[in-house]
Amino acid sequence: MATDNRPPFARLNGREALLGALPTPCYVLDAAKLRQNGEILRGVADRTGAKILLAQKAFSNYDLYPVLAPYLAGTEASGLYEARLGKEEMPQGETHVFCAAYRDDEFEELLRYADHIVFNSPHQLEKFGKRAKEAGKSVGLRINPECSTQEGHAIYDPCAPGGRLGTTRAQFDARMTPELIALLDGLHFHTLCEQDSDDLETTLNTVAERFGDILKGMRWLNFGGGHHITRPGYDIPRLERCIRFAQEQWGVTVYLEPGEACALNAGWLATRVLDVTENGGTANAILDMSAACHTPDVIEMPYRPPLFHAGEAGEKAHTFRLGGPTCLSGDIIGDYSFDAPLNEGDTLFFGDMAIYTTCKNNTFNGMPLPAICVLGEDDTVETIRTFGYADFKQRLGK
Ligand SMILES: *Cc1c(COP(=O)(O)O)cnc(C)c1O
Repeated sequence: MATDNRPPFARLNGREALLGALPTPCYVLDAAKLRQNGEILRGVADRTGAKILLAQKAFSNYDLYPVLAPYLAGTEASGLYEARLGKEEMPQGETHVFCAAYRDDEFEELLRYADHIVFNSPHQLEKFGKRAKEAGKSVGLRINPECSTQEGHAIYDPCAPGGRLGTTRAQFDARMTPELIALLDGLHFHTLCEQDSDDLETTLNTVAERFGDILKGMRWLNFGGGHHITRPGYDIPRLERCIRFAQEQWGVTVYLEPGEACALNAGWLATRVLDVTENGGTANAILDMSAACHTPDVIEMPYRPPLFHAGEAGEKAHTFRLGGPTCLSGDIIGDYSFDAPLNEGDTLFFGDMAIYTTCKNNTFNGMPLPAICVLGEDDTVETIRTFGYADFKQRLGK
């Protein structure tokens, strides 16, 4: 078969037979691609002095943290559990946490794991900031620069009017007393999603305008995630100019906490065709994976995942609508075309499936969870986790 050299599939070429022999559905994580991503990220860190963290909410397959660890400064967490995971599994790195609201009954434990704690509001800072400082933590406040730079994905835009994430300058001026400001070591913003560094530059200019006076007294500034740094064509020199600008302007240590960019294109989801049906000219292929269960962002974001050796609808001779076996009518991955008709038993590989999948899937409809396999740097394949009925049942009762 001809090669499929699109970035999600470059490393799959020639390994279809090896990986196609695995039981499906299964996620296959690509250790070598993770390392390549790590090398790109460390290049940025080495050239600029910025510190780059793994945002674990995108990728938390800790068996592979040792591959990424040499290239990163640590992990970023969305709350207690991810902070604990980061501390346990990448202990040599820093452990940062941001949560929109911390809980009284969790904060003490959180102090055991996190070394950088970012608060969302002046009230949360007031409530917990002093305890964090007394425990020797570096304390930050998430700001909302009110600078929307993304059109497509409204659910990923924290700068949309009325948003709850981050402190606007008006909220800052209304609530931040000199005592509260004195608790702060840094500021944090997170406003991007799969974006290039031109949007970061726009955002940073707005941050400078709105919060430049505050930043003069800070030790660090965290640029958040959403930087698609490892995507081919991403403008890395402009990112590095942004980092240097912040370093020179305010004398801060710059942090970045990409999730996607760490594990971009570092895995596939292998699935088999269970049945093929035809309805009024639409050919449906029913797969043993479900978009709703196994790749929820396909429906939630939504987006169309790349598929190995497949084209857009109508591009190749045979178009099929690919869907899951669940009862949800909208459990559809998309319409794809193929050189030959699909048949029961065919194996398909979706690309870019290491991110927002293994850590976000669910067992709706009693769907089994896909196994997790690793394609090692030595070309061996290891199944690191399989799931069964117990994984479905245990969450539901006694
Ligand atoms: C989601 C998120 C990230 C990671 O975002 P990516 O788009 O995966 O790079 C980083 N920091 C915060 C605060 C986030 O909410």
